[in-house]
Amino acid sequence: MNIEHPRQQESTDDGHGARKKYVTISVDDGHSTDLRTVDLLQQYGLKATFYIPGANAERPVMKPSEVREIDRLFEVGSHTLHHLRLTWISEEEARREVCDGKKASEDMLGHEVVSFCYPGGKFNRRAAAQVAEAGFLGARTCRYFQNDFPANPFSWDISTYANTYPAYVQLRHCLLEYNFAGAYNYITTFKARVPWASQFICALEAVSRDGGIAHLYFHSWEIDQNGEWAELEALFKIIAQYSLTPVTNGYLFRRWHEKRGSVNSLPQV
Ligand SMILES: [Zn+2]
Repeated sequence: MNIEHPRQQESTDDGHGARKKYVTISVDDGHSTDLRTVDLLQQYGLKATFYIPGANAERPVMKPSEVREIDRLFEVGSHTLHHLRLTWISEEEARREVCDGKKASEDMLGHEVVSFCYPGGKFNRRAAAQVAEAGFLGARTCRYFQNDFPANPFSWDISTYANTYPAYVQLRHCLLEYNFAGAYNYITTFKARVPWASQFICALEAVSRDGGIAHLYFHSWEIDQNGEWAELEALFKIIAQYSLTPVTNGYLFRRWHEKRGSVNSLPQV
């Protein structure tokens, strides 16, 4: 895996107690429109993790040669073997989805895969334990409006999902996921903004000021379907103007463990 050293000098946490300031992007599902996202990320010097399932009955997954091309430039994470919601299937089936998905990705790429993302954002204690037992370093959720390192790396939340919903839908989603801090942050830090790009600018502002992680998540297929490539590029341009360190999700998972001394020798991600 040809990643990941932040291209900028890390700007804080230099022994004076200030918090580091990161920006990371995750892109789910491995649709071929991800290749357009790759071009944009490169254009603006940003980093990302692409969570790609082995197969997906909901929409096509790109060819292995294309996944390997993305892996050469960015990080590829696991999104299970068949993109099944882990909380909707049996314990044994869920374990196979997690473990066999990891092995399939590693066989395809020829190196270890350390980052995981729950299909549909569906997870519970059992799923998180299975992901940890499989040897992943962390797992991303679909809980929004969070800009901090989490207490648990297997429930790693994000700042903004690039899809526009009314404010009441955002709040309802937070409450359904028991994401009470996210609901509070949506009203305060994110100013109850509705357009997703505008929301993420709130995350950039907050992290610039207080430190933490501004984490944007989207599906390229959805950006394409909604005709929002211009909005995505405009946001990438804005992100690049902030003095945040662009990193992959895997870099942050690794940092989480390093800070706690829970892993001695980790792969470079
Ligand atoms: Zn997905």
